[in-house]
Parts: sequence; C-alpha cells; structure tokens
Amino acid sequence: MKDYLISATAENGQVRAYVLQSTELVRKASEVHDLYPTSADALGRVLSVTALMGHTLKNVQDSLTIRVMGDGPLGAIIGVGNRDLEVRGYVQNPHVHMPVDEFGKFAFSNAVGMGNLFITKDLGLKEPYTGSVPLTSGEIASDISEYYMSSEQIPSACGLGVYIEKDGTVLGSGGFIVQLMPGADEVVAEHLEKNVLKMPALSKLFKEKKSPEYILSLLFAGFTYTIHEHKPVLFRCNCSKKKYGEIIATLNADEIEAMINEDRGAEAVCSFCNAHYQFSEEELIDILSQKKSR
Ligand SMILES: [Zn+2]
Repeated sequence: MKDYLISATAENGQVRAYVLQSTELVRKASEVHDLYPTSADALGRVLSVTALMGHTLKNVQDSLTIRVMGDGPLGAIIGVGNRDLEVRGYVQNPHVHMPVDEFGKFAFSNAVGMGNLFITKDLGLKEPYTGSVPLTSGEIASDISEYYMSSEQIPSACGLGVYIEKDGTVLGSGGFIVQLMPGADEVVAEHLEKNVLKMPALSKLFKEKKSPEYILSLLFAGFTYTIHEHKPVLFRCNCSKKKYGEIIATLNADEIEAMINEDRGAEAVCSFCNAHYQFSEEELIDILSQKKSR
C-alpha cells in the first residue's frame, strides 16, 4: 500500500487534522541509510512530521527543514520537505540500537538526548523563518505540539509512531497533527482532547495496517467532518551529479588541483539520500577550466 496523507476539517472548520501513513517512506530511508532500529525510529518520526508540516506550506517552491539537535547517541536528525510531500533526511548516527526492553521506557528519549528542535520555513522571502523549542520529552511528537503553541500560537496535538522489528524491518509508520482553529468552542476543544487521550499507540495501529482514514475516525469520533485532500508521500532527494559539480566548482583552485593530481578523482556523497557521485580526473579538469575561464 502506497503512503499518503489526508487532510480534514471538523465541526464547520473549528478543528483541522492531517493524518499520514509513512511506512514505505521510512522503509526507503532505512534502506538507503542502512539504519539500525532506534535510528530508523527517530528518522521515521522526523520524516513523518516533515511531511505533515510540509503539507501546510502555501506555495510549491516553499520548503521546510526540521532539525532535532539532541546530545544523545543519535546526534542530529534532519528532515527536509515541500508542499508536494517529497521528503528527504538523515540521522547523524545511523547505527543506534537501544532496545526498549534493555534500556527501559525512556530508551528512545535517551537516544535523542537534550537539546533543541528547530523548524525552518523557506518561503522564498529574503530570510527563512526559524522557530525553535527545547526538547522536553525527546519523543519528538510532544515537542512539535509545543512548537505550534509557542511559535505559532495554534493549540495542536501531534502523534507519531514507527513500528520496527528487532532485525530492523519497518512494519508500520505514520502520524497526525490535529489543531484547534481560533474561536473554536470550548466543548469542541474538550471533546477533541478526550479523543486524543483515548488514541491507542500509533505504532501499533500502523503495524496493524490501519489506514489514515481509520485513525482520523478515532480523532474525530463524535464530530461531523469532511476529508478534503488525499496526497501521495515520497522519499525523494533533489540532488544530482550536476549539483555536486557546481559545489566542487566553488572550492579553491588548489583544492580542485589536489583532487586531480593527488586523488586522481573525487567522490561526493549526498547525506540526504546516500547517493554516490564519482568525478573522474577529466571531469575535474573540465570543472577547473570552466572556473578559471569565468
Ligand atoms: Zn541526495
């Protein structure tokens, strides 16, 4: 089943929700980055929330970057996405495995550690906008709820869940963001809160192949609601050999000469998708002569 996101509103627009299934996305990320279970769980959560928030961007050229900068063994966890729900990202240490049964229920938050979560929106303006919150639970989802409240003044609840077998097989992943619109009824707010608190563990629901529509029906139980959009979600990087050639061209001439004369070539590796690009001596000579002719 392909990954997708649905968006919906309830009670005449007083509440909105985005629900995502991201199993294939996390499988793909896990495969390209050779992720161990805890690393896959962490990157899976960040990529899921990148897609959920990417959906709220206004224009196709806008982009969103989420950086979870904790001091735990995972290191930085980065997700980048756009309005077309093309998502890419990486975790600094792909080989973290802290099984919950050995390290207790805080294994995941210990793996993330203390630090900050940054959200940068590049809306094509002069300066991108960056908001941040301290990592309080290390679970990421509640940090996102906190971000919405403190940076955007939107009361929100976020849920994220990734189910991974001990051998690293990704069996299910997904999440939701639900938000109260300004002027929402107190009764509606209380009812929504009850629904969110009653929500079973998302990792289990996605492992059982429950659909985003089913999860929405739990979030919006007792509400009148409409689903507005149904969009596919993909792990996709925008890198290319041409782009890396342009990056090499920005280096000093003597650095490029060293690649030619000492290394006899160069290799560029994209940290977002782990693609490897080889540059031969001839290609580097070309880059260097074009640089000099400028
Ligand atoms: Zn790439």
